[in-house]
Amino acid sequence: MTDALYLDSSDTRRFEATVERSLDDRVVLDRTHFYPEGGGQPADHGTLATDDREWTVTDVQKSDTIYHRVTGEPPAEGAVVTGAIDAERRDTLTRYHTAQHLLSAILLDEYDAPTRGNQIYTDYARLDAAYDRFDETDLADIEAQMNAHVEADRGVRWYTLDRETAESELDPERTRIELLPESITELRIVEIDGEDGIFDRTACAGTHVEQTGDIGAVEITERESAGAGEERIRFEVE
Ligand SMILES: [Zn+2]
Repeated sequence: MTDALYLDSSDTRRFEATVERSLDDRVVLDRTHFYPEGGGQPADHGTLATDDREWTVTDVQKSDTIYHRVTGEPPAEGAVVTGAIDAERRDTLTRYHTAQHLLSAILLDEYDAPTRGNQIYTDYARLDAAYDRFDETDLADIEAQMNAHVEADRGVRWYTLDRETAESELDPERTRIELLPESITELRIVEIDGEDGIFDRTACAGTHVEQTGDIGAVEITERESAGAGEERIRFEVE
């Protein structure tokens, strides 16, 4: 299994790795900072390069290991490559993803509305929550609360916990640990500080900013019904 370095460092954009397997148009590395699509967060894009050639990474997927899809004949097994992540894309997706944590936590705390799904893009994000109907006042209030967290510029951190400890310590409304496959024995925990202690603590494998101020101003752009008892909120970050 590829060493998933993106779980530890959220700000590395260049790294060296060795090609372990070279398939039709995909490459497996011994280590990677490329984020594979998952949890509503799209894959990183970027390049892999040797001294005399460069490949564009157009997609990254995780299954039994992490696969980087590249254009053209892939680099040979054993080749040492420099990976470079499209920094602007990653930064944007990271800011959106961390904003989504704030939104999910506010909806749960203030409206008892658990998140049912979410998808982020490079220019907006949407989140589905179990709730009858958010009115204009609700949306303005949710947006103001998100921006208060951004302006307070509080810390965000992550670490791993063994599954048993996570099951006993995490809020089951925020993390449905029972839905994770039994093969997962260690969970990556993400915490966001609040005014008075920890504001949000969930299990998450996405990428996050280190300070909430790095998210930038948030604007809730619209809502719509996503089915009976479910609301869809769209938002943009500056
Ligand atoms: Zn996350």
